[in-house]
Amino acid sequence: MAVSKTHPKEAVLAALAAGQTVFGENRVQEADEKFPLPGAKLHLIGGLQTNKAAHAVRIADSIDSLDRVKLADAIEHAAQAEGRLPELLVQVNIGDEAQKSGVPLTEADAFIRAMRARFGEAVKGLMCIPPAEGDPLPYFKRMAAMADAHGLAVRSMGMSADFEVAISAGATHVRVGTAIFGHRNVQI
Ligand SMILES: *Cc1c(COP(=O)(O)O)cnc(C)c1O
Repeated sequence: MAVSKTHPKEAVLAALAAGQTVFGENRVQEADEKFPLPGAKLHLIGGLQTNKAAHAVRIADSIDSLDRVKLADAIEHAAQAEGRLPELLVQVNIGDEAQKSGVPLTEADAFIRAMRARFGEAVKGLMCIPPAEGDPLPYFKRMAAMADAHGLAVRSMGMSADFEVAISAGATHVRVGTAIFGHRNVQI
């Protein structure tokens, strides 16, 4: 997944022309300015406020940051209103870090079951961002095991700095921004 946040639409078009088809953005408004594009699949990968859920449901092919019941309520409500439901990934706070989004580890199994009961086949898998410090491998392995335990196919894990490690642990999607598009001027 090519993470094109902060990069202009021209950069997305260049990647698309080169054969890249899956893109990630973390802000709904910014994503809406660049997508839809024929042949491109849009994943929303950033923390999602409930008041942006309807907009996200309208434009995303996949919402990869489902992490709380209030957001699930907003997505369900919007999906009924819009008549479309994007694919969904449950974001797991795999390092149990206080400041990170993602469902806490202790609640993850119950939350995943609840989301599958509610959204069925739309729930494709899990997403995580491991702690910035230290070896990410144990966290990637833990998330892969959790996906296995739930019979979920998609494991979105790994970014520019650690995608090889993530692949070795069974990632199906790596989210690569900087290594494809270069450094971002804005920090988001
Ligand atoms: C920005 C971002 C990425 C990409 O990070 P890079 O280090 O630039 O590859 C991946 N995942 C999420 C959730 C992001 O917000």
